[in-house]
Amino acid sequence: MTRHAFTVDVEDWYQGIPISDRASTRNAQRLEGCCHRLLDTMAEFDVRGTFFILGPVAQTYPNLIQRIADEGHELGCHGWSHDLVYEMTPDRFRAETQRACDAIAHATGQRVTAYRAAYFSITRHSLWALDILAELGFQCDSSIFPVRNWRYGIPDFELAPRMVQTPAGSICEIPMSVRQVGSMRLPVTGGAYFRLFPYFFSRANMRAVGKRGRAVVFYLHPWELDPDHPRIAFYWKARLTHYANLKATEPRLRRLLTDFSFGTLGEIAARIRKVDEGR
Ligand SMILES: [Zn+2]
Repeated sequence: MTRHAFTVDVEDWYQGIPISDRASTRNAQRLEGCCHRLLDTMAEFDVRGTFFILGPVAQTYPNLIQRIADEGHELGCHGWSHDLVYEMTPDRFRAETQRACDAIAHATGQRVTAYRAAYFSITRHSLWALDILAELGFQCDSSIFPVRNWRYGIPDFELAPRMVQTPAGSICEIPMSVRQVGSMRLPVTGGAYFRLFPYFFSRANMRAVGKRGRAVVFYLHPWELDPDHPRIAFYWKARLTHYANLKATEPRLRRLLTDFSFGTLGEIAARIRKVDEGR
């Protein structure tokens, strides 16, 4: 059975939506409860995955991050501000990424080597970010979504993971999973796609990708297991997916963990690197 990658973007419910900082500080913090529930479920199914930590989360919840590390999950970096990478300058991106890594290292004593950008925002306009990640010592990145989306995507990016050469050395790019059907590219699973598509459809797409010998990169946010988090107003396109079908996440997650086998992104990166070195 193909072993897929289970990934989690660790941020509170308001950190990945377009609202001002002032508004976010007024809203209740709820990350701990739902993240502990997710960790409990993963422990129940004996699954280890990769947790991309937002820098301020490491600073605010060192004990939570320590639990993630103690339970054998891989720690990765999800940046500091949760702003779009393609709207940053390279210098700002470098400084923010370093700051987030330092916060994670401070909480756990670990240097992280896996990265995921906020909103999958490494696109054609921000491919320079891979050079900076390699320069900062990252081994793998999972920020490129090979689809067309209003906020992210490189629609013609290669679907399979591969080593990317940069002036600072190589980095393994593990794109988000897509099923190619004719000329169409379907996002396979994770996040809102996992809540909006019926479970049998997600399962069929995952199996189709697995049959091609590719591991699926599944992703989830802890707040997706918290259907009762506050309802607030923000940009309609982002709101359309944020609150959709949240009650479905937990039961579907349990089915998913029964139907498929999962590991970390680092395991996939190590495999790709080995093949590349053997060439
Ligand atoms: Zn995020």
